[in-house]
Amino acid sequence: MNNTIPTRIYLAEEEMPKFWYNLRSDMKEKPDPILHPGTLQPVVPSDMEPVFCKEAVKQELDDDTRLVPIPERIQDFYRAYRPSALIRAYYLEKALGTPAEIYYKFEGTNTSGSHKLNSAGPQAYFAKEQGLQSLTTETGAGQWGTALAMACGFYGLDLTVYMVKVSSEQKPYRKAVMETYGAKVIPSPSNTTEAGRRILEKDPNTGGSLGCAISEAVETAVKTDKCRYVLGSVLNHVLLHQSIIGLETKAAMDKYGIKPDIIIGCAGGGSNLGGLIAPFMGEKLSGKSNARFIAVEPASCPTFTRGRYVYDFGDTAKTTPLVRMQTLGNGFIPSANHAGGLRYHGMSAILSKLYHDGHLEARAENQTEVFDAAIRFMKTEGILPAPESSHAIKAAIDEALECKKTGEKKVILFGLSGTGYFDLSAYMSYNAKTLSDMVPTNEELERGFVTIPDIPQNK
Ligand SMILES: *Cc1c(COP(=O)(O)O)cnc(C)c1O
Repeated sequence: MNNTIPTRIYLAEEEMPKFWYNLRSDMKEKPDPILHPGTLQPVVPSDMEPVFCKEAVKQELDDDTRLVPIPERIQDFYRAYRPSALIRAYYLEKALGTPAEIYYKFEGTNTSGSHKLNSAGPQAYFAKEQGLQSLTTETGAGQWGTALAMACGFYGLDLTVYMVKVSSEQKPYRKAVMETYGAKVIPSPSNTTEAGRRILEKDPNTGGSLGCAISEAVETAVKTDKCRYVLGSVLNHVLLHQSIIGLETKAAMDKYGIKPDIIIGCAGGGSNLGGLIAPFMGEKLSGKSNARFIAVEPASCPTFTRGRYVYDFGDTAKTTPLVRMQTLGNGFIPSANHAGGLRYHGMSAILSKLYHDGHLEARAENQTEVFDAAIRFMKTEGILPAPESSHAIKAAIDEALECKKTGEKKVILFGLSGTGYFDLSAYMSYNAKTLSDMVPTNEELERGFVTIPDIPQNK
């Protein structure tokens, strides 16, 4: 039977999903409601619509609709670069000498190089449909900014990207791609916003953080006519769009009767992992599967494994609604030495709830070992992975080696969320052996935790 499984399983265009899957609809225990930071009451659409597109808000607050139709024009957008391949890692399996079967869903074959385009397209489309003229956003490593610049180019919208300052310095080519697609890129913190000026006053030499860039992007969106803010991860509607990853994977696996035992993804804000696991987790929650799910995060930004499950702000200036999630505190800034992405202080409310309720496992990995795994993978499978994705590779290899010890023939699926061509400075540090493992001390984590708002829900 194994020999009949091709190295790459592609769906035909007409087999692509026509609906997104809303995992929340099948969660008996829903994530806690998003709260208004002033009243501490659950938000209503009118609280969020000055900041986000109407359709995004509707999707964000909808816990019940199970299947959400993908509009025809978004299906068009998806067809420009999807379906993506599900790949059997025959070469890696052989190199490891494992009896396990390893599969990965490869989201890196579009120009932005990652899965982020799956939500950038829909969000730009919804903005256009609403009659907006421009969008703002933040970007860390640059993949989200690139994806959104592509989507805004496609649908004809202006875009301002606040890019975390250290990243904009480390990744000039990322910035160049965004600018070439027509976006305006501003290193954050900047003096173009009050939030940025406040942070610069306190710490003129800061390299910035995602939380800070979000504050700047939100402020600009709210102050600009016909402009809204879009976020590339964490939020429920982003995970909804990313369910396309899991739905395609499941359709491809079903064709060959493959059932994954272990599903692994890297977790920054949770969107690629949440998208990949969605239909499989749905089966698990309804008792139809026994699969294990593993989130992999960097030891330098350990949101699941050392964070707290409390209400927190999504940004440093404390302007966003409050979300109950795994968080390191909105003031947490990971070490600038950390090269592997996944630097956000918070985590998707959906994944945080699944983790809290014991449906999702998490582990933290050191970046040197993550890059070791990346090298092992690229030498056998040929693809140069994003450092973020390499966290998932590390865990997949570890699970496959565990099978080698026990002789078990498990089926391991992981998400290869992107390629690493714009992360070559990180690979250069790895080659020069100057990458180090930056693990925050408990005291450093405490400094982040004190920024968590002191509200009754925390107690
Ligand atoms: C942004 C990004 C991530 C992390 O974001 P999630 O929302 O957790 O998926 C992971 N991999 C790649 C390649 C990315 O660009």
